[in-house]
Amino acid sequence: MGQIDSASSGYKHVPFFDWPSLYLEHRDEYLKIFDRTASSGGFILRGDVEQFEQDLAQFIGVRHVVGLADATNAMLLGLRASDLKPGAEVIVPSHGFIAAGQAVHFAGGITVPVELSESDWLIDPDAVRAAITPRTQAIMPVQINGRVARMDLLAEIADEYGLQLFEDSAQALGASLDGISAGCFGKWGVFSFYPSKTLGCFGDAGALVTNDDEIAERVRRMRNHGANQQRVIEPGSHIWGTNARLDNIHAATLVYKLTWYTDAIARRRAIASRYHEAFRKLPSLSLPPAPNSDSRYFDVFQNYELCTNDRDSLRKYLESRGVGTIVQWGGLGMHQHIGLGFEATLPKTERFFRRSMLIPMNHLLSDKQVDHVIDSVVDYFKEYT
Ligand SMILES: *Cc1c(COP(=O)(O)O)cnc(C)c1O
Repeated sequence: MGQIDSASSGYKHVPFFDWPSLYLEHRDEYLKIFDRTASSGGFILRGDVEQFEQDLAQFIGVRHVVGLADATNAMLLGLRASDLKPGAEVIVPSHGFIAAGQAVHFAGGITVPVELSESDWLIDPDAVRAAITPRTQAIMPVQINGRVARMDLLAEIADEYGLQLFEDSAQALGASLDGISAGCFGKWGVFSFYPSKTLGCFGDAGALVTNDDEIAERVRRMRNHGANQQRVIEPGSHIWGTNARLDNIHAATLVYKLTWYTDAIARRRAIASRYHEAFRKLPSLSLPPAPNSDSRYFDVFQNYELCTNDRDSLRKYLESRGVGTIVQWGGLGMHQHIGLGFEATLPKTERFFRRSMLIPMNHLLSDKQVDHVIDSVVDYFKEYT
């Protein structure tokens, strides 16, 4: 796998995400793929889409993959295909991307954000239980940073109350809990291939995965204006479709990238281990669990997120050392988008977003860059605490 230290910037410049390198690392291969795909006229729903759907289904162990324009539309179609009732409530973690709430809204439902659990920073099953009302139809956890929430407990709650279970697993391709892949716990899950995602392509792309034949068939039709497999919109069709297709040229690059995805994840996990080893001695930091620290989990480290009361000054210091960081989702839980009508106060989530930050984490980082991130964080705590 290519590890590029660009000569102009050197390893002491570690952008949060190196966008050009996403392409440059395998430029020759991508040029061949573009050339082959475009020369064949294969732009819309051609063989590469089908190939990618088959390869991904096999990779995660699911019956159906439907390639879609992006993960947000995948959730929207998943909700509509699941007959979300008008005004039905869908419980989501406030610690999640507003995309999940937006999909619920556009599908005609009500987004009900709840607290995270302080043990894994993911949706708290007890908070879910407490939020159930007669109008609740579904629970949609968000598998953040490449780690799966307590799906075993959530499935119990869903069974007990007769609720549907969906997953915003946009950040968790290849992650698992107890051997079950993210995306496969409930009726359906979604993945995003946005460029900076673990399996990123050169634009927007996504997929819905499901073991349910009927959901797969409906979403397949919905993504292409209601057309059947022969691409015909039958006059008697009772499905309102839209356009949410995965572009063939993206699918072709994803087929290729999936062939070395396991290596890319191994690289992320190796970096996470190094971060963990270096930072666990710093008492002011809260860290995600190290890879292999719990055999039930396989985490893919879409991000490396840490929490500290020193968040803002640490970020400033890292910036001065050339290390890019971000605060995920602008530091706002879903319920903090008050302009959208949310009224809840969720103190644990709000505290989390005051203390959390992401440091560079992706397979493009060189060992030297990882060293520089580590040295910079360690130096901060030496100098300022
Ligand atoms: C990236 C992301 C999405 C949105 O994915 P798109 O493909 O950009 O629509 C949704 N949820 C989470 C948790 C994400 O990280």
